[in-house]
Amino acid sequence: MRVAALILAAGRGLRLGSDAPKQYLPLGGKALLRHSVDRLRRHPKISMVRCVISAEDSAAFAATGADVSTTFGGSTRQESARLGLESLADDPPDLVLIHDAARPFVDDALVDRVLAALSEAPGAVPALPVADSLRQVADGRIVAPLSREGVWRTQTPQGFRYPEILGAHRAAAGLNLTDDAEVAARAGLEVRVVAGAEDNFKITTAEDLARAESLLARRLDDLRVGSGFDVHRFGPGDHVTLCGVRLPHAAGLVGHSDADVGLHALTDAVLGALGADDIGQHFPPSAPRWKGAPSEVFLRRAAELVAERGGRIAHLDVTLLCESPRVGPHRQAMRARIAEIVGLDVERVSVKATTTERLGFLGRGEGIAAQATATVRLPAA
Ligand code: MG
Repeated sequence: MRVAALILAAGRGLRLGSDAPKQYLPLGGKALLRHSVDRLRRHPKISMVRCVISAEDSAAFAATGADVSTTFGGSTRQESARLGLESLADDPPDLVLIHDAARPFVDDALVDRVLAALSEAPGAVPALPVADSLRQVADGRIVAPLSREGVWRTQTPQGFRYPEILGAHRAAAGLNLTDDAEVAARAGLEVRVVAGAEDNFKITTAEDLARAESLLARRLDDLRVGSGFDVHRFGPGDHVTLCGVRLPHAAGLVGHSDADVGLHALTDAVLGALGADDIGQHFPPSAPRWKGAPSEVFLRRAAELVAERGGRIAHLDVTLLCESPRVGPHRQAMRARIAEIVGLDVERVSVKATTTERLGFLGRGEGIAAQATATVRLPAA
């Protein structure tokens, strides 16, 4: 049984204060439509995912990094769905799911319910009963009560046997029906209802987008802790840069970049939490472009990698090990600088310092070491 999923993303509607249509707005560090793409692609029963986009959005779509095929939609939702279905005709699937790009929280169990119902009927839609009382309103006044008896709110993905829904859409071409269930019903196809999910809501307003952000934040429960360690030796110079703060000193630190051991250890800690190699891999010392580079570039990039995974840094902690310079007087400036680089509240950043009791290479004043810990929250897999 081959199952294809079409994600409808051709809408021009509701820009929520931005130039891009809402399906390209960022949600949890990636484009809204990427959430649906990623979730449906991961579903074991779905063999292909295709986005129906507007030709005007080709560049915006490419920028999302979504690794799925596309086809161009039309001027209405119904036309876009039909064109998406037509694009599958050369290599037709058995079943097709049609999903709104603006419902980022579609989950596997809901998809399973829709697909299971298609063994009984040619169409299936997820829906929820209406809990609130319904009233007909005109001019800001209640005109009449409405019964909510038998009234359900439909969601997507709506699932269909492919030949039947293609035929139904061809027969309804040119009309402006609200969803595929209506197209199917018009063609006389039986459409079953399966349980929807409250979290599978459609983002249409700025308030919905804020709700989605907070829902996503609550779901960041894949907790990772990474550690980092770095050493740089003293050499000629009159200052050192530690945790992004320049301190006058009788010697400098030797390194390819600005030799900021604190930021290097923190960068490795963040990369470690992601399981994403190390600072030398991302920023090879052999590459001329990093010569003398301010190390905030490295830490900022590591923080971007966290955001690209849809995650957040929860906490950063770094300990500087040296006999001199004295760190204490600069601790708050260092915390503030780190917080600024990664975009964290300063209370989520800790800077500590210690000596090694004049023991070893650090005790002899040959260099400075730093060790760091990063706590990162990623979306549950
Ligand atoms: Mg280093």
